[in-house]
Amino acid sequence: MASVVRLGLTGGIGSGKSTVARLLADRGAAIVDADAIARDLTAPGGPAMPLIAVTFGQDFVTPEGALDREKMRALVYTDPSARQRLEAILHPLVGLETQRQASSAVSQGHSCVVFDIPLLVESPSWRQKVDHVLVVDCTPDVQISRVMARNHLTRNDVKKIIASQAGRERRLGAADTIIFNAGLSIQELADEVRQISHRFGLSSA
Ligand code: ADP
Repeated sequence: MASVVRLGLTGGIGSGKSTVARLLADRGAAIVDADAIARDLTAPGGPAMPLIAVTFGQDFVTPEGALDREKMRALVYTDPSARQRLEAILHPLVGLETQRQASSAVSQGHSCVVFDIPLLVESPSWRQKVDHVLVVDCTPDVQISRVMARNHLTRNDVKKIIASQAGRERRLGAADTIIFNAGLSIQELADEVRQISHRFGLSSA
């Protein structure tokens, strides 16, 4: 991948990370979405399901053959080692699929592959796999009001999610480039993305 920029994109919930990913895709970047890959792995008949059934039992598999997320959430809550066992199954598979999608994007001629990784800062192995880290940032108040509106959650629910993610300072400390996405219209955000696109192997024209 000599002339291809591997861009790690991250940001707290509601920062506008997915919006920035779409704007980068509009400029020709390929997007590899780690959350979507993890969801597909545990969807009905997903590649992680046989190992999940063997490790946790058929009780954790829905009649359709997907991961029973409610049951897994409850188990992980009472038994933290369950999270490690689940991650030991999922992480290598997510790693393989992200690499497969990235290679396919490169062979299709993309000059920038964006790895959309919500937990990039929490995961040192991801940091080593990217050339540049782009953090989308905004104030917690803006995060809260966006996510309340988008997901119909209460202020407290959103605060809990924010508290479970890496802190803002830590995320900003890991950034090579920061987009401050507050007080901007989507058009102004698109302009900002355009202006910095050349840093990621994309045209700024
Ligand atoms: P994330 O992926 O970081 O959780 P999203 O990109 O989904 O966040 O953005 C959260 C919500 O805020 C979405 O509904 C999105 O349309 C909206 N949003 C993001 N940036 C802006 C902006 N600059 N102006 C207006 N709305 C925005």
